[in-house]
Amino acid sequence: MTHRFNTLALHGGIHTDDTGSRGVPVHRTSAYLFKNTEHAANLFALKELGNIYTRLQNPTQDVLEQRVAALDNGAAALALSSGTAAIFYTIINVCGHGDEVVSTANLYGGTFTMFQNMLPEMGIQVKFVHPDRGEDVESAITDKTRLIFTEAIGNPSLDVVDMRRLSAIAEKHNLPLAVDATFTTPYLFRPIDHGAHIVIHSLTKWMGGHGTALGGIVVDSGTFDWSDPKFRLYNEPDPSYHDLRYAHDLGDLTPIAFILRMRVGPLRNLGACISPDNAWMILQGIETLSLRMDAHCRNALAVAKFLRDHDQVSWVRYPGLETDPSHPLAKELFEKGFGGMVVFGTRAGREGGQRFIDNLKLVSHLANVGDAKTLAIHPASTTHSQLTDEELSDAGVTGDMIRLSIGFEDIDDILEDLDQALRC
Ligand SMILES: *Cc1c(COP(=O)(O)O)cnc(C)c1O
Repeated sequence: MTHRFNTLALHGGIHTDDTGSRGVPVHRTSAYLFKNTEHAANLFALKELGNIYTRLQNPTQDVLEQRVAALDNGAAALALSSGTAAIFYTIINVCGHGDEVVSTANLYGGTFTMFQNMLPEMGIQVKFVHPDRGEDVESAITDKTRLIFTEAIGNPSLDVVDMRRLSAIAEKHNLPLAVDATFTTPYLFRPIDHGAHIVIHSLTKWMGGHGTALGGIVVDSGTFDWSDPKFRLYNEPDPSYHDLRYAHDLGDLTPIAFILRMRVGPLRNLGACISPDNAWMILQGIETLSLRMDAHCRNALAVAKFLRDHDQVSWVRYPGLETDPSHPLAKELFEKGFGGMVVFGTRAGREGGQRFIDNLKLVSHLANVGDAKTLAIHPASTTHSQLTDEELSDAGVTGDMIRLSIGFEDIDDILEDLDQALRC
């Protein structure tokens, strides 16, 4: 029996044990007893799936994985220590030395740095494309391309990517499409329903929702066929794992070859596992995901409209504003709202942006998004402070830009704080 979204958010992945505990237990253990040597050998040979060691798998983590896979309409998932680890493991689970990734350019700052500076050191080149400037993703694909990467809502200008166009290109070139859907969560948008093969979330943000725990997750749609020889990592024997050829030797588990390989390859050998406590904290957050997202979306739309009409504000972007360039796509793709992020510029420019931040009283000035509380940052003086005005504009960050992550305090308290800070 398949359940609906809210039911899955509350019950997905739970299997009650002998104690009858209704809450998900936190399994604080490093390792698990084997029943006998045959059981141990079967677990190691992937003949049986089960618990070995918490770096590889843990029952609390397992509930989280099953729940998010269900919410995203995926086949299986792997939880990791952070969203950053989830992105890195996705790349190296498909690409090796000499391979290429095609990615939209408007990315979360850490992801951009990983793609721009870290991956080339490993022999993996990322080609950036600006669909927001009319560039076509397809033109960047070569015979070395192994993955297309994008964010559901791009950074920092909150542009929405045409997911149907991207998945058609992926299909045509037999490439997996990976989508970082942190800004939407499965409640607003399920990339797999639009043809994506891999979905990534930083669980640190709206999924956990309270700004208290780091985590990331990768969801496998179970729909990508890895048997094309160009996917070397799936077609050649893996010497680090019983010479397994993931696209051929997994039997019934073949559809989830991608996520199994990520567990027994990158996770097992590089070790960015999520702690059982953080998995548990994030599960508590997911129980109320739809309620919180509705509140984030409602308040963010109200803030966007307030800023649009404010005499100290020169521009505002929010995919939910009817005048926003992303609105037509956002309306088509996102059924229940447009997310919690709003960006805008003040008439007083770069200095005005800094002054605004310093004058905030209720809104927190910090480098995070997706907290229940409203957050603000001035990218030009913090995350992007090393860039010149010209470099900033190339990265899509203007000197006056303020990035807001709207929480669900009473809306009038948020608006009053923004208003007084804009008028100081
Ligand atoms: C925060 C974030 C990340 C990185 O996630 P961490 O959990 O902080 O490592 C990646 N992508 C997006 C869109 C994010 O907001």
